[in-house]
Amino acid sequence: MAITACPSCSKPISDKAKSCSHCGFNLGSATAEDIDRKAKFAHYKAMHKLQNQSMFAILLFLMGFGFIYWGGSEPGEVQYNLSIAAAVIGFAWYAVNRVRLALVKRT
Ligand SMILES: [Zn+2]
Repeated sequence: MAITACPSCSKPISDKAKSCSHCGFNLGSATAEDIDRKAKFAHYKAMHKLQNQSMFAILLFLMGFGFIYWGGSEPGEVQYNLSIAAAVIGFAWYAVNRVRLALVKRT
């Protein structure tokens, strides 16, 4: 028994399984074309999700950045530290998403 990725949801499943235990995708009756279409759709969905996350990460970064400049809080205040945290997390998240997006695109 080997583990393979479900063509629909990309989660690990047994290659002997007739249907996916995660999303219920029926592997037994699916044609190669079905599986191909499902895989393309899953790929598109994964890319779309990452793009949305990237947008959110940029927003978080800009919000944190904007707050540092126009929030009127002084260094050392909780609000100031939160702004820096938001900017740093937003930037790191965006960077991670760029890498993940590149990896998804390559497959
Ligand atoms: Zn599945």
